[in-house]
Amino acid sequence: MLGSRRSRDVVTCIACGESVDRTDAREYDKHGDRWNRRDKEFEYLCKPCHRDLTHQPRSGLEDTLDDAGAGELDQARFLQQYHDLVRGRDSPK
Ligand SMILES: [Zn+2]
Repeated sequence: MLGSRRSRDVVTCIACGESVDRTDAREYDKHGDRWNRRDKEFEYLCKPCHRDLTHQPRSGLEDTLDDAGAGELDQARFLQQYHDLVRGRDSPK
């Protein structure tokens, strides 16, 4: 473990919850824009989780999650909202 390296900057991987040294972690910006650093707080992934990350475009995903009430509604209501939003977007009337 990292016990011998006290007082180092340690971050938590958002995917697996592992504590990793900041220098061994990868920054993750949930908006997919790591180049704009203003007023931002990055999250972190450990290297194995970063490798597993899909690098496909995910445009609109965060907005959809926000609109669906992620983190605010209970899971059942969130999933229902998310489902409705995605369905509505994929099947134009
Ligand atoms: Zn991880």
